[in-house]
Amino acid sequence: MNIKYKLFGLFFKQNSKLECHNVLLTTNTYYKNLSKENKKNFRIRTLIFLETTNFNSDPEFHLDKSMKIIISSAFVQITFGLKINTLNIFNNIFITPRSYSYKNNTAIFDGDVNLYTKKINMSWPAIENGFKIPDDAINLSIHEFGHCLIFENTKRSYLSKIFKEKSFNQWKKQAEYKFQKIKLNKNKVLRDYAGTNLMELFSVSLETFFEKPEFFEKNEPILYLSMVKLFKQDPRNKLNPIIK
Ligand SMILES: [Zn+2]
Repeated sequence: MNIKYKLFGLFFKQNSKLECHNVLLTTNTYYKNLSKENKKNFRIRTLIFLETTNFNSDPEFHLDKSMKIIISSAFVQITFGLKINTLNIFNNIFITPRSYSYKNNTAIFDGDVNLYTKKINMSWPAIENGFKIPDDAINLSIHEFGHCLIFENTKRSYLSKIFKEKSFNQWKKQAEYKFQKIKLNKNKVLRDYAGTNLMELFSVSLETFFEKPEFFEKNEPILYLSMVKLFKQDPRNKLNPIIK
């Protein structure tokens, strides 16, 4: 087990780690497929994220610990190959019992990252469905955390960037090719929403990267491999996805 997480692990109670394991084993397919050693690191990272993030919900909606574990696991999944353990700017998560809308706006949301309130808002049914169907390339919490990573990466100083600049630039180059393909209707890998802008293309790619990695690699190998480099993991290797 990674020394850092072994030490962190000492701060969490045994029954807390066991609860985390039991919840993830039945809800998160990525976790379920990991090796025993990776599972240990994943659990500790999930608990670190959970304990350092403020979770809130509508007063009428009770957000229990297992729900927080599931939400936290999406963050750990996408950052499993990276050094980041928590979000600095977006460490407030607000959960609603259903889809929602904003004043003076007719759009209905299941999730959004609000740059003004610095909050991540998500509806519980959409989060749950994201994990219930693990291979449809739709996972709301992976999508929203994807946005957070881009925002936080932009705000960080050169030395504390989440992504290596070279890998990020390589990804951007491939993403721009892909964006043009979508505009020309020559896309069969990502859902159409990726054609909204590069920010959405990033999050939609991330959902596909984790939920349909073989299909993604087969049809868009260069874009797929740029994501492997960026996230330092290859989700096709289910037992041990991290690239050293
Ligand atoms: Zn989005």
